[in-house]
Amino acid sequence: MADKKKTKSKTKAKKIPAKGKAAVTPAEDITDNKPLKIVIVGHVDHGKSTLVGRLIHDTGSLPEGKLEAIRDMCDRRGMPFEWAFLMDALKSERDQGITIDTSQIWFSTDHRKYVLIDAPGHKEFLKNMVSGAAHAEAALLVIDAEEGVREQSRRHGYLLHLLGVRQVAVAVNKMDLVKYSKERFDEIEAEIHAYLDEIGIAPTHIIPVSSREGDLIVNPSKPMDWYEGPTVAQALDLFEAPVLPTDLPLRFPIQDVYKFDERRIIVGRVESGRLRAGDTLLISPTNKTVRVASIESWNSPSPVLAASAGQSIGITVEDQVFIERGQIASNEENLPIETNVFRARIFWLGRKPLTVGKTYKLKLATSQHNVTVQAIERVIDTGDLSSAEAETVERNAVAEVILRSRGMMVLDEFVDNPATGRFVLVDEYDAVGGGIISMEGYPDQRQSITVKSTNIFSVDHRITPAARSASNGHRPGILWLTGLSGSGKSTIAVELERQLFLKGYHVYVMDGDNLRHGLCADLGFSPEDRTENIRRVGEVASLFADAGFIVITAFISPYRADRQRARSIRSEQFHEVYVKAGLEVCEKRDPKGLYKKARKGEIEMFSGVSAPYEEPEDAECVVDTASLSVSESVAEVMDYIDRHLGGVDHHHETGKEEKAAQTS
Ligand code: ADP
Repeated sequence: MADKKKTKSKTKAKKIPAKGKAAVTPAEDITDNKPLKIVIVGHVDHGKSTLVGRLIHDTGSLPEGKLEAIRDMCDRRGMPFEWAFLMDALKSERDQGITIDTSQIWFSTDHRKYVLIDAPGHKEFLKNMVSGAAHAEAALLVIDAEEGVREQSRRHGYLLHLLGVRQVAVAVNKMDLVKYSKERFDEIEAEIHAYLDEIGIAPTHIIPVSSREGDLIVNPSKPMDWYEGPTVAQALDLFEAPVLPTDLPLRFPIQDVYKFDERRIIVGRVESGRLRAGDTLLISPTNKTVRVASIESWNSPSPVLAASAGQSIGITVEDQVFIERGQIASNEENLPIETNVFRARIFWLGRKPLTVGKTYKLKLATSQHNVTVQAIERVIDTGDLSSAEAETVERNAVAEVILRSRGMMVLDEFVDNPATGRFVLVDEYDAVGGGIISMEGYPDQRQSITVKSTNIFSVDHRITPAARSASNGHRPGILWLTGLSGSGKSTIAVELERQLFLKGYHVYVMDGDNLRHGLCADLGFSPEDRTENIRRVGEVASLFADAGFIVITAFISPYRADRQRARSIRSEQFHEVYVKAGLEVCEKRDPKGLYKKARKGEIEMFSGVSAPYEEPEDAECVVDTASLSVSESVAEVMDYIDRHLGGVDHHHETGKEEKAAQTS
């Protein structure tokens, strides 16, 4: 559903002046000795191995005599030399474990070392990436100049997006076969941009190359002197160096709390960032802050003042707040996400297939949650990388799923912090899958559950709810209409309002667009803003109900968690009405022309198209507007209202409570 959502790419294309090694301005933060892990992907015949062979040779990374040995071998067997043989030779040595050094393929430019992440097949590659056994920090996508963007290139591009590889450069290979034509390159470049843009990848560079002839891999190209960008090696050097765990925001998942003489020692492993004695930490999800009194160490004679990623430590804190295993401590400025739903890219290992509706145990850092599979968005075949919709995920498949828990989970997106952005799923006692987290289309709910105000005292009204009902002749209520855009919420809401008003009911419609002009004018359509929008609607609706009104809200309100929160403010008066019509029907109606715009990409994050719509599971009233007319639909809700809210006798219930209200 949400494949068209644009993810923000943090990589910026950098301009470099001219060709040739010496002209490269490397990324400022290149650390000399930490190798960058890259993966080279592309269609089988688009020349990956040749490019790698060239790259290794032209950067001078080949062991002495290697090239000659292969040339000799080719001569002996009477076959023409191919650059791809180099890669094969390196690989076979590695696979046979001949030398320890070639356990991975390495090469280096003047600026940095590289490790090629490679796996015997997609399956292993995906498994390693998702499980964290291997992690590519950048990628080079190889595309054939003759063939252009093929299905396989698309799948590889999607894979990079799926795995959260943010830095991607593209090599348009075999330029020699298209006579080094600038026109052809421009064509393909446009095609590549269009495709990658669609999946939210902003390539740092698109480079025309000939791996066979050695053009623009490391050396400049005469026939392509029209090209002004970097060579492949330069483009790699321009990738940003990986961020070290110590430089990421602090994440200190609590593993245990020990009582130790008078002290309480909180132990765990610092997964990322740094922590110092005296720091103020925020504990999620309780949102309590504590000050670090000391860092305890078992084997250091002198006091420890700081700890950083990778260290297991114990701390004592100055404050007496409730702390337990599974919570995460961080700094106040850079907090983890709190949510009860997220998008997961999983590698499934279970013997029994993963199914929608089933609950598994999720382990994330030191926390455990029961999560239910809300939806399977797509399943990716690890053989050919094709993706399809499916009801189940079989063993060894990769899938994009939506997972939901009852309570709040504390986590990060994998691209921001691998340690707290990765999890394991357990069924009974077996690990059945591993996965990485993406919040694409889902809001961080921290904001909507955080109460900032303090010293609050409610004022008691001197009119009781019963007195209001008796005076109005009906009970108050919130009719919370939810459904896709165009499902009929506004149409039904305003007609209900008219009919109820004629019956003498105190009724008011709150509609999305109206509120967005005023109360919510500061909000956009990002997941967080939508959540905040609905939070305000819920609060205002609750006030109306408190005033004795029947309030009808007409908002898509796509997230279950948001509706749940609105309900919880005044659950006894909350009536969820699912205005039900499928995407197809709504899109055909398209009363405001919004679907057309969304499909053209003019509206981002459109519920049902490029952002999630989570159907209600237990709405009090469901109106199927796809099969009913407007008046039939309205009649159904009217009937519901009459049964649940109507019929309060003016005189009958003006009893004790109202008297109390009048006399007190
Ligand atoms: P929403 O407020 O949910 O975005 P609107 O009420 O603006 O949707 O638009 C719904 C459209 O569908 C209107 O053009 C309406 O006439 C049409 N429609 C067809 N059948 C129904 C029905 N049974 N209930 C409500 N609207 C319907």
